[in-house]
Amino acid sequence: MTTAPYTTQELERLAGQAGRDLEDAPALDVLRWAAETFGPRFCVTSSMEDAVVAHLASRAMPGVDVVFLDTGYHFPETIGTRDAVAAVMDVNVLTVTPRQTVAEQDAQYGPRLHDRDPDLCCALRKVAPLEQALAGYDAWATGLRRDESPTRANTPVVGWDPKRRKVKVAPIARWTLADVQSYVTEHGVLTNPLLMDGYASVGCAPCTRRVLEGEDARAGRWAGLGKTECGIHL
Ligand code: SF4
Repeated sequence: MTTAPYTTQELERLAGQAGRDLEDAPALDVLRWAAETFGPRFCVTSSMEDAVVAHLASRAMPGVDVVFLDTGYHFPETIGTRDAVAAVMDVNVLTVTPRQTVAEQDAQYGPRLHDRDPDLCCALRKVAPLEQALAGYDAWATGLRRDESPTRANTPVVGWDPKRRKVKVAPIARWTLADVQSYVTEHGVLTNPLLMDGYASVGCAPCTRRVLEGEDARAGRWAGLGKTECGIHL
């Protein structure tokens, strides 16, 4: 397993080369490449909507770090999924929290910032904590899929994350929802119970609703607020 430190230029070059080489590779092969290339400087991030990428990554690299952002606004089902993943999977779940508790944020910005300025709320509770959490890694994996929404249609399987200057891996970018469901069934992967209750994408409770028939998977996120992404993937 290679763990030599890379320069930023080397990481960017690696991302470009792997993006071309691995575009058509199976998800597990993509994660094996990440594990062999980056070793412990590779992690997975998970919203705990399901544990598919964490499961795949644990097959490629048992004990892999799985970063979970606990915004303080999650559904209890999401926290339960996180705890179950930590208990039964061969992964190292790392829970990351924002600098301020919800109460401290309310005191500084007023209550329900998510209703008045969701971009700021996400910046404080998701984007900034993730930047700090990823500081010790060269590469990170996400569960982004091209079929989730138009904003994700061009997601590369391996790409360069210029904001954080890291390699960004989306091993299931080419998967469909049916592919995810097949993998879950075949491997008995943990999923968030809310997926069985009308939610197609699970985020913070105040900003997530069930989807209606015909809506895309992320239509229930920040509905009516003109916002489609938290900022992590922009
Ligand atoms: Fe705040 Fe909503 Fe973003 Fe969660 S999803 S951090 S509650 S604005």
